[in-house]
This record gives sequence, C-alpha cells and structure tokens, in this order.
Amino acid sequence: MRFNEELAHIATYQAGKPIEEIVRTFGLDEKDVIKLASNENPYGASPSVVECIRHNAHKVSLYPDDSMHALISRLQQHYGIEYGQCIVGSGSDQIIELCMHAKATKSSKILMAGITFAMYEIYAKHIGAQVIRTPSKEHNLAEFYELFTQHKPDIVFFCVPNNPLGECVDAKELYRLLAHIEQESSGETLVVIDGAYQEFASYKDSSKHIDPRDLINRFANAIYLGTFSKVYGLGGMRVGYGIAQENIIQALYKLRAPFNITTLSLAAACVALEDQEFVRATLEKNFTQMLRYEEFAESRGISYIPSYTNFITLVLENPYDSSVICDTLLRQGIIIRNLASYGINAFRITIGTQEQNTRVLLALTESMR
Ligand SMILES: *Cc1c(COP(=O)(O)O)cnc(C)c1O
Repeated sequence: MRFNEELAHIATYQAGKPIEEIVRTFGLDEKDVIKLASNENPYGASPSVVECIRHNAHKVSLYPDDSMHALISRLQQHYGIEYGQCIVGSGSDQIIELCMHAKATKSSKILMAGITFAMYEIYAKHIGAQVIRTPSKEHNLAEFYELFTQHKPDIVFFCVPNNPLGECVDAKELYRLLAHIEQESSGETLVVIDGAYQEFASYKDSSKHIDPRDLINRFANAIYLGTFSKVYGLGGMRVGYGIAQENIIQALYKLRAPFNITTLSLAAACVALEDQEFVRATLEKNFTQMLRYEEFAESRGISYIPSYTNFITLVLENPYDSSVICDTLLRQGIIIRNLASYGINAFRITIGTQEQNTRVLLALTESMR
C-alpha cells in the first residue's frame, strides 16, 4: 500500500522504554525497575487525585463533558485569563499538533532550537513543512533572530525550559525577541512557548518565569503550552492545555476531535491543580536531589547542563559512550534516556526519589570507572 509520502521522512517517536518491556527482556522483578526516562513525577500524583479518580470511576459509560467547563474555569482562575483564552488537549502534545495544522502548510518553514522536543519536528513533517534549526543545540536567541529574519517562518517553537537539554532562556530576553518577531511578521508568525517545565524553572529562578497571561497580552501571536504530565504527576492521564488570544484558540477548536479528554482525566486535572502544596513539595525535593547529580558530575569532571527542569543531562567525552552506559544501566533495571539519537554523546536522567537516585548514582559510578 502507498501512504502519504510525507511519512517516508518521519521517524517514529521513541518514548522512554516502559517498565513492562524491561521486566520481560531482562527477567527482572517489576519492583526492581526504576524508570527515569520520561520526566514523570517520581512522587506520583497528589493523593487527592487518586481519591478523585476512585470516586468518579462509576462515570465511565458516559462521554465526558465536551465543554470541559470545570477544568477550563479552574485554569482560567489559576492563570487569571479569560475563559475563551484556553483550550485543553490530550497532553500538550495534542495542542502542538493543532497549532501545526492551524498554521502550517507544505510551503511553511518552522523554526526551532538545534536540539529540542522531538514532537515539533514530527508534527511539522506531517504537514510536509520545512524545519529550520539553529546551529547551536541550546536556545541561542541571536541565532533565532538571524534565522527568523532570513526565513520568515510560519511558526517558531521555544521550549522554555528546553527538553532534552534542560537549559532555559531568560524571560526578558525572550520577550525582546518576541517583540521583534511580532513586529517583523505583522503578527503573522505563530510563536509557541512550550512551558512543560515552567513550574520547575520559575521555582529555581524567577528571571525564567513566563506568566501566560502577561505573555498573551503582550503578544497576540503567542500561545503558551502547559501540561499536567510533569510536575502534577498525571502523565498517565494525558491532559495539557494551550493559552492564547481567543482568535487562536478558536482556530484550534476547529481542529479538535470531540471528547478528546476522558472524564477521569478532566476530574483528575481539576483536583491536581488545587493541590499546590503537592507541587511545591515536588519542586523542593527535585532540586535538592538534583544537587547529588551535579556533585557526582563535578567530582568526576563530567560536564552537565545546568537544569531548570526535573531532569539533568550529562554530556560525555571519550572514552565514555552514552549508549554503552545506558545499556549497562538498563540491564540492572534502570531506565534513563540516551541522547545518541540527537547526535550527542549524552544522556538524560529524570531526577528520581532519594532512594532511586542513590541506586542510579551507584550504578553510574560502577559503569564509569
Ligand atoms: C512532556 C512534554 C510535553 C507534553 O507532554 P504531554 O504529556 O503531551 O502533555 C510537551 N513539551 C515538552 C517539552 C515535554 O517535555
């Protein structure tokens, strides 16, 4: 069978390996497997979320409330935005896809950092649009400026902070560039600010903080993306959202499939948003535990990228090989993310619980003698 010819150019997204696969492949006990590959919350989710899901379990036979009123009004309150300035998706991944379909065509150019979230490129390729990347791996705003001027892209993606590297651009500097982009494109270039890890960055350094309301009030061509998969610990529930001026949200609504979020996911997200103490505790533990990886790297002269997220990326030099190290850890039931497929000798570790990190650091010490 012949398929859409664009598919020939698309690599299938490699998700972090699921625990079940490691248990099967290496004959390990499920409880001995640690998954620190997909930046999930190692502390789970707020206890009130689990309670809420139990409580709502009897609702499974009915379609969800397609207006998503309960969740949208809570997000509206949380961010101080207007009701019509928010759309909810099956993960913020889905909003990325909607943005692409709403704005890009086959002749579009899409600008992004040298190494950034893989889905931007995958969705661009669905459309057959051309991806332009900055020469620098990390976000380099001067290069973005240069390439924007040269190519006039239809969409520019900023991952703030960036996955899988962990760096974060300064909010003020970003705003300066956004003002330029808005002016030069007469507001025609869609700017996507992916804030999947914004809670982490804001906690660590307020100069990295992006307030979605402030963002969209300044820039009518910007959309902010948030997710419940990371700090809120709802990766298994698939809930994300986009915040933008109403005309952008309305365009995205035209592309949205009906009932794209389950009843239980909607209820869980509402409750999760209310438990800000869980969020705060997660952030605090995350950065305390991250120090252990920084100390490990420093004590052995290994480079790492200072991280504003819930993961840390270690960059290796000869004779160390990220593929060998990741494989060695995998055999012991420790799943981390090899970044060799991004063309760098590096790996990314989601910051786990104290106990998990102790095991990972021991295994790393062993494998990097
Ligand atoms: C995890 C992640 C997302 C989206 O996750 P969803 O689970 O689809 O909400 C978006 N962008 C980045 C950079 C991420 O790391």
